[in-house]
Amino acid sequence: MTLALGCIADDYTGASDLANTLTRAGLRTVQTIGVPADDLALPEVDAVVVSLKSRSIEAGLAVSRSRAAETWLRGRGAGHVLFKICSTFDSTDAGNIGPVMDALRADSGEAVVLVTPAFPETGRTVYQGNLFVGAVPLNESPLKDHPLNPMHDSNLVRVLARQSRAQTGLVDLATVARGADAVRARLAELAGKGIGAAIIDAVFDRDLETIGLVAARQSLSVGASGMGLGLARALVSTGKVRPAAASSEQGAAVGGPAACLAGSCSQATLQQIARAESVMPVLRLDPVRILTERDEAERALAWARPRLADGPVLIASSSTPDQVAALQARHGRDAAGHAIEQAMADIAESLVKAGVRRLVVAGGETSGAVVDRLGIPGFLVGAEIAAGVPVLRAVGAKTGDMLLALKSGNFGGPAFFADALGLMR
Ligand code: ADP
Repeated sequence: MTLALGCIADDYTGASDLANTLTRAGLRTVQTIGVPADDLALPEVDAVVVSLKSRSIEAGLAVSRSRAAETWLRGRGAGHVLFKICSTFDSTDAGNIGPVMDALRADSGEAVVLVTPAFPETGRTVYQGNLFVGAVPLNESPLKDHPLNPMHDSNLVRVLARQSRAQTGLVDLATVARGADAVRARLAELAGKGIGAAIIDAVFDRDLETIGLVAARQSLSVGASGMGLGLARALVSTGKVRPAAASSEQGAAVGGPAACLAGSCSQATLQQIARAESVMPVLRLDPVRILTERDEAERALAWARPRLADGPVLIASSSTPDQVAALQARHGRDAAGHAIEQAMADIAESLVKAGVRRLVVAGGETSGAVVDRLGIPGFLVGAEIAAGVPVLRAVGAKTGDMLLALKSGNFGGPAFFADALGLMR
């Protein structure tokens, strides 16, 4: 199997967003957690998104991890590698976008790397090299106060130039509007001047399509999910990838017992739990007991085990904002969060040992703890249950065939748990 597209994402949620975007555009896509083992058995796929946590770590480490991911992807035949960054270009003058781009450029031999965080459907547009977040320039958006990567300059040509050894140029919107050949001519011109990276403007989806057509014939690009969308559309429109309907990619039914875990205390999740009570047994964990007695996970399993044969169950730690605040005041926010996440991971592990093969998890951090504990190396991305929440099929997992849905906070409609299980056959 030869990958049409390899992606290296600098954080997990960005990777999921990209994998979901590629899937919706017709690419059969696997998202891996970290750089996979050399022998990871992949199903037939068009794209792999390697999820790293490299956005805010030391630049040298981000470079070495990204290079390891690139080696793996190229080893699987990826002709093009997209380095997936945040659509708000989260970075500092020390990196990590510039240093990682420089290293990947050196490895790939790319003359001029196309760079754009534009993703018009989420309000990220780039004009004359300036990134807008909705109606305001980046440096006037809430990103100016980001705790790790405060963005004080909206001009990405300057931002990237401060981070990269390459000289940085611009491909402006007027050139993009004239089409792929005009962009290629501009890149040749920039290459002639010794420029090694170009911020490229994009304001509408059609701009991403033009950029995708050009990028797909290069070996490296840097961008957000919008660049992924442009590349995916180009791969499909040029016949390099035969589009697959996400729903047909669920493969054989997995069957077996199903369970839901909720660690999110968001308004949406609290409503979803209340709604689920009319269709499945629900156990509400005692968060105080999780922190003090440490036997809640066992109690939960004892409750769930006899019920699994009769249909799905839901186990929730979620409480209302007042109760959460009270618990945090007594035990500390981090300690409380961590202990509950680990209890949910214990419960997930025991449920899987008890035969559960379809697992729905509500909560971003909670999902991370569960996936880490189950040691799942990657997921084939399937049909969307709700915007941004696809059905995931575990790839290369010790647990064998298994379906998951991982939902963060406010995602999904009121009947989310039943909706998810309805698609997880
Ligand atoms: P979301 O996606 O809604 O932010 P997360 O799982 O990322 O959900 O975060 C929820 C956090 O709250 C986790 O750290 C979880 O362990 C913690 N938590 C869950 N239930 C409770 C509770 N009853 N009281 C306090 N914290 C809780």
